[in-house]
Amino acid sequence: MQRTLFTPEHDSLRESWSSFLDREVAPFYDEWDRARRIPREVLRRIGELGFLAPAVPERFGGAGTDDFRFNTVLDETAAQRGFTGVAMALSVHHDVALPYLLDLTTEEQKERWLPGLVTGERFAAIAMSEPGAGSDVAGITTRARKRNGSYIVNGAKTFISNGLNSDLVVTAVRTGDTGRASADLSILVIEEGMKGFSRGRNLEKLGTHAQDTAELFFDEVEVPEENLLGEEGRGFAYLMHNLAQERLAIAVTAVGGARGALERTLEYVKDRKAFGRPVGTFQNSRFKLAACHGELQVTQAHVDAAVAAHVEGKLSAEDAAVAKWWATEAQGRIVDACLQLHGGYGYMLEYPISRSFADARINRIYGGSNEIMLEIVGRSLGLGEPR
Ligand SMILES: Cc1cc2nc3c(=O)[nH]c(=O)nc-3n(C[C@H](O)[C@H](O)[C@H](O)COP(=O)(O)OP(=O)(O)OC[C@H]3O[C@@H](n4cnc5c(N)ncnc54)[C@H](O)[C@@H]3O)c2cc1C
Repeated sequence: MQRTLFTPEHDSLRESWSSFLDREVAPFYDEWDRARRIPREVLRRIGELGFLAPAVPERFGGAGTDDFRFNTVLDETAAQRGFTGVAMALSVHHDVALPYLLDLTTEEQKERWLPGLVTGERFAAIAMSEPGAGSDVAGITTRARKRNGSYIVNGAKTFISNGLNSDLVVTAVRTGDTGRASADLSILVIEEGMKGFSRGRNLEKLGTHAQDTAELFFDEVEVPEENLLGEEGRGFAYLMHNLAQERLAIAVTAVGGARGALERTLEYVKDRKAFGRPVGTFQNSRFKLAACHGELQVTQAHVDAAVAAHVEGKLSAEDAAVAKWWATEAQGRIVDACLQLHGGYGYMLEYPISRSFADARINRIYGGSNEIMLEIVGRSLGLGEPR
């Protein structure tokens, strides 16, 4: 089906981004995968070419467009090409962390941070999860106490994407003790070089190897009050508000990843022979691939509708949760079927489908697990816990 989401401007971004991926990512991606990290200078190069943080206003060097379709093009194209690490790094930077730095910042903070986020001189991460608090954001224990115009931060975060490559970490901390998350959490920007801020090892993951994921440690880190985002105590509300865009971005990346896996599988089954014929000509293969194609088409239509609603400012938290849940589950089914059609070669790391399979798995877990997505949707149907 013809997609109707994009205008010629988006198509032209897709063209230039694709040629960048061909030229400056494809030849090196395996190397980054082995190194478990995208080199910092590549992120700067991406910024230099204008592919970072399109929503930053022009007066701070950005493209000044809060049209999420530009982000969609960047995310889905990288994911489709199998460069999930690039899609994820950029998505965390400008789909997930940037909205906090755009919407909750004073003019002084904007001047301090935004230009670097466009050029890639600064790279962003978001740190909510802790060893004891993942799904249960309200259980955050990283503590920030006020002292002489600063917050003194103690605690630890884990599973932080861009954990090593980031300079600015949008960090959820506990500042209050009322016992109500809606009043006790705040958001601080913790910066590279602050005394007492350290990073753990690059965590060994099942997939998305080119992307760095790390633990972060805060030991008496003195964060100036000027690094508070928005109002103290309103952190939980800010997190809940911004999670919708994060979930939409994951849905977009999931569809891109599934599309790439399907394209590569179609090529493979036309070429690979068994019993004297291409494996794609068995009725089972045809049905499986037709079903994948159909599921992808339906999923794409839904995610495109969610992106369009978001562009109009009308995407609800529940609809973002549906998009994330459905698209990532569909991706899981599609990459699994595609891997099966590769036979034993699908299990070999040298075949891209094995990477697609491993990379896809995280999408059902992070950004709020799919069980949490169903909780959100279930509650919106009036099905909360009995009191
Ligand atoms: C590669 C990777 C990158 C990540 N990047 C980031 C990042 O950049 N920043 C960040 O802050 N976090 C990040 N995370 C953390 C991620 O968001 C959490 O792992 C996720 O939210 C789940 O939390 P948890 O791991 O603590 O699992 P748990 O909360 O312990 O959940 C375990 C299981 O219980 C289920 N469960 C929990 N609560 C409920 C419930 N109420 N009802 C039903 N089932 C429930 C979950 O769905 C899951 O299946 C990342 C994680 C990974 C693995």
